[in-house]
Amino acid sequence: MIESTPRLATADEVADELRRRSTFVMVSHMKPDGDTLGAGLALGLALKRLGKRVHYFGQDAVPRNLRFLPDANLVTRELPADLADDALYVFFDMSDWRRAGELLPPVQRENMLDIDHHLGNKLFGKLNFVLEDECSTGSVVMHLLRALRVPIDARIATCVLTTIMTDTGGFMHSNTTAQTLDLSAELMRLGADKDEITEEVFLRKRVAATKLLGLIIDAMRFEHGGRYCYSYVNDAMLARTGADGEDVEDVVNVLLGQDGVEVAALFKAIEGEIRVSLRSTGRVNVQAAAQRLGGGGHFRASGLTFYGSLEEAFPAVDAALSSEGL
Ligand code: 5GP
Ligand code: MN
Repeated sequence: MIESTPRLATADEVADELRRRSTFVMVSHMKPDGDTLGAGLALGLALKRLGKRVHYFGQDAVPRNLRFLPDANLVTRELPADLADDALYVFFDMSDWRRAGELLPPVQRENMLDIDHHLGNKLFGKLNFVLEDECSTGSVVMHLLRALRVPIDARIATCVLTTIMTDTGGFMHSNTTAQTLDLSAELMRLGADKDEITEEVFLRKRVAATKLLGLIIDAMRFEHGGRYCYSYVNDAMLARTGADGEDVEDVVNVLLGQDGVEVAALFKAIEGEIRVSLRSTGRVNVQAAAQRLGGGGHFRASGLTFYGSLEEAFPAVDAALSSEGL
């Protein structure tokens, strides 16, 4: 049988599908960030306003700094056993449904909606609403909220603004466009609490996190004539400072910010797994480099899981980056 290549759905087609269904599961990716959570919560809150039943699936716990989000307390890895057969599973901010984690029960393609902004999304859903030019999955969701003509209240607006502020690094990354700022202003007028997002997501730090940052900075190494900076964090460093994996989320940007650095990598060897975060100032495509090792993401921000030891991971990532012109 020849499978037709899935095409992208329009906002109106997705809105029709959302109106037809009665029960939804909003699915966030493992190690959830402000985009996957904020986008799912925003659409979930909106669908509840339309009288729909909404569940939120997240394999990993909501990080401390995102627990202020409306409905974040409802995100769970346990789904009710008596879910309707035609429940629509909506995947947010992931190129591949497998990023939801192995605890998600099997879902038929017929019941999958894929909402994303990543390059190279696998278009795995029955409907795929992927806008690569949008700065966040939450701003992709905005197109659907408008097509649904659902009122955008302050809680929904806060969720969407969180997706924008996290994926643009507080409006600093190059994916921040004039439209991004227009939309953010509109969200503030609708009641989005920018000050709370700034405080919760960006400003408040645990002392343990700051001590861990010190260790990671101490371990920085520079290669490729100073254009590549990398460092690592392991379980021993976490134990020494009392920090945990959540405390290293934005540390890779500190590495990227060092004078002369074009590409940064942070290797996180935590609980038997090696996760690598890659960031680029824009010359080297770190999405392509990550893809060489089974990961993915965006041109300037990508990630991967490395299967092997830390000592093997350093040269493997260096080689992948070199192949992309580092
Ligand atoms: P982070 O370094 O913050 O974990 O990830 C940066 C970006 O790369 C995010 O947009 C994220 O979605 C993407 N990314 C991280 N890890 C993976 C991965 O293992 N596979 C894919 N396809 N994308 C990833
Ligand atoms: Mn995103």
